[in-house]
Amino acid sequence: MTRVPVRDDLRALEGYHSPQVHVDVRLNTNESPFAPPAAWYDAFAAELSRVEWHRYPDRAAAALRAGIAHLHQVRPDQVFVANGSNEVLQTLLLTFAGPGRAVATFEPTYQLHGHIARLTGASVLEGERAVDFSLDLAEVRRVLAAGSPVVTFLCSPNNPTGLVESQADVRTVLGLVPGLLVVDEAYGQFADWSAIGLVDDETPLVVTRTFSKTWSMAGSRLGYLIGPAWLVAELDKVVLPYHLDAAKQIAGRLALTFVDEMEARVQFIVAERERLSAELAAMDLDVFPSGANFILFRPRSMAGRAVWQRLLDRNVLIRDCSGWPRLGDCLRVTVGTASENDQFLAALTGALSPEAVH
Ligand code: PMP
Repeated sequence: MTRVPVRDDLRALEGYHSPQVHVDVRLNTNESPFAPPAAWYDAFAAELSRVEWHRYPDRAAAALRAGIAHLHQVRPDQVFVANGSNEVLQTLLLTFAGPGRAVATFEPTYQLHGHIARLTGASVLEGERAVDFSLDLAEVRRVLAAGSPVVTFLCSPNNPTGLVESQADVRTVLGLVPGLLVVDEAYGQFADWSAIGLVDDETPLVVTRTFSKTWSMAGSRLGYLIGPAWLVAELDKVVLPYHLDAAKQIAGRLALTFVDEMEARVQFIVAERERLSAELAAMDLDVFPSGANFILFRPRSMAGRAVWQRLLDRNVLIRDCSGWPRLGDCLRVTVGTASENDQFLAALTGALSPEAVH
């Protein structure tokens, strides 16, 4: 059979992969280690049984948007919701990027920012972070002045480094961007400040969030952004009609009624993150400060890939970033339950010991 040629600009692209292996302790994809509360399951089941399945869902997802708006003290017309924050990013880039336009990232950062931009046909200006992975404002100025990107990405806390951008830096970048600034706050609730407070209808800023981490809803695929109302109206033109199915709208709306439980989970994860960071810092590792639900670290005396494999041999899966550009030997662990974290620490101690057998 003849293969139809894909677009020339897509041929060289690689897909985004996160290998899933069956193990006892899975700490590789930054999900919540906890399921939603039991009362959420009951409320969800009760509402599902009343869905009119022969009808299209509410196209505007009005109740869900109102719930998100209420949570952040903004107006519903400043909220755009999609199937995971990845689809939010895709819709943004379909609307603003595309052939002949440029998008700026500061690497290393979340790979999908550049990847989705390329899928739309845009060119990607990859700025460099400092060696400690902090944002280098001189580099930001250089990249923005040289390429005049229509969209500039920051990620705070940054995946995979865990670093939180300071409010002063985000304000500075906002004053410099020639187009739109997107602050990806997929891990925003774990950090000590949010850029959502900087959003208004006159400012070229959007902040993206997800239900996949703090809300314990990765299985539902829900994400959103807070931005100027005029921008949300443009995105509504680009996204497919009825993209949010009825079950998802119910799942998200009900999740928002369990804010106290969500905040308790966040507090627990932050406390465990601090415990893990302290334990890791006492080992033969460089540990990067994290404001997220994961920690990036680099073994000092062994190859990162070898440590990752030894952990896998001990039934613990973490993210192997050791082969990624600029992240040589780095590994990323998601904060799990107390017991998962203990198992990880025990496995890591074993993996780092010189006598370790494979
Ligand atoms: N942004 C960042 C920085 C992420 O790490 C992730 C999840 N890996 C996402 C966006 C996408 O999240 P989701 O599509 O599950 O909402």
